[in-house]
Amino acid sequence: MAWSFDTKSVQLSLKNTNEINSKVTPIYQTTAFKFSDLDDLESFYQGGKQYLYSRVGNPNTDELGASVAHLEAAPAGIATSSGLSAILVGILAVAKTGDHVLATTDIYGGTYQLLANELAEFGIDVSFIDFDKADELENHIRENTKLVYSESITNPLLRVENINQLVNMARKHNLYTMVDNTFATPYLCQPYSDGVNLVVHSATKYLAGHSDVTAGILVGDEELIERAKMKVVNMGTNLSPFDAWLAVRGMKTLSVRMERQNKNAQILADTLSKHQAVSKVYYPKHASPKGNGAIVSIDLTNNCNIKGFFQALDWVKIVPTLAGVETSVSYPLATSHRALPKQIQEELQITEGLVRISVGLEDVSDIIEAFESAIEASILKQ
Ligand SMILES: *Cc1c(COP(=O)(O)O)cnc(C)c1O
Repeated sequence: MAWSFDTKSVQLSLKNTNEINSKVTPIYQTTAFKFSDLDDLESFYQGGKQYLYSRVGNPNTDELGASVAHLEAAPAGIATSSGLSAILVGILAVAKTGDHVLATTDIYGGTYQLLANELAEFGIDVSFIDFDKADELENHIRENTKLVYSESITNPLLRVENINQLVNMARKHNLYTMVDNTFATPYLCQPYSDGVNLVVHSATKYLAGHSDVTAGILVGDEELIERAKMKVVNMGTNLSPFDAWLAVRGMKTLSVRMERQNKNAQILADTLSKHQAVSKVYYPKHASPKGNGAIVSIDLTNNCNIKGFFQALDWVKIVPTLAGVETSVSYPLATSHRALPKQIQEELQITEGLVRISVGLEDVSDIIEAFESAIEASILKQ
């Protein structure tokens, strides 16, 4: 065909990808999908063709949603632009103006902001209750309560939620349940199997696992996920195909990463709990038969200079996030829990000495050495 240069430069991609038997799913980095004629286009609306426009659906984001649903033993899943947008569309799938949500106090700081500040503007009222006092929870249920929201392992003090108790209470009162399973991952627990209606993930953390993707996932039954999907489509909180592809790639090693990172975390927690300059170690005891997660929080005594501790960390990166393959630390008081009212910070024991460690894949003796020497260097000389 005698195309002009300008036409040729636009029409470069002439390969039929169906004939290339790529071993892994290719990246469908496309905004839209083409149709051969109007009947072909109509077939999308009749349910024959799967894809139209990437905000509405894309093979890579679908693969990610379906893969996590599969790991969580749930019928359906959807990928979103971030963990927070997954939480938002999940809540909006079950609650609207005039409704009320019960949430635990010790949630991720960003989730707290979303629930406390933004949902109010949608006319959704949220009460924050200490879910550790389960018997008091029922007293806070109102006529318009729709949803109970918690995390399977909370941040940064790593309380393990009693999911069975929560589900039983919610069912008794006809409420939906939604649980953030980011810290545990489906490797450790699968809240959908325990009766939770919606399970949400910041895939930014362990699912993708390599600190190079921001993404969220929501899984549940077909009907709720379809409702959430309409929110994603209409509010534009979809994930990019490339980020979905990266997350799927990362997830293939979830089991081996979690196995090693959990093991390292257990050894680090046991070692640091014997350290005289560590007043408290937060690490779950019976989160799951496969392990207790890869986050260890420690509270340094007043004899330590917290700035000195962070300065003395050698190769361990200081980052306001967690769950990569490299060991890192964060400082909840200045980052994830900065926005909380001081009174709640105190109630949650987010103290000046609190350090959250995200344990990585390195040799555990190198990890221990890095923390022991940073603690030593931070001890104030009398
Ligand atoms: C990071 C995180 C979120 C928010 O996820 P983003 O991907 O940053 O939007 C929500 N919940 C928990 C437990 C998290 O750690």
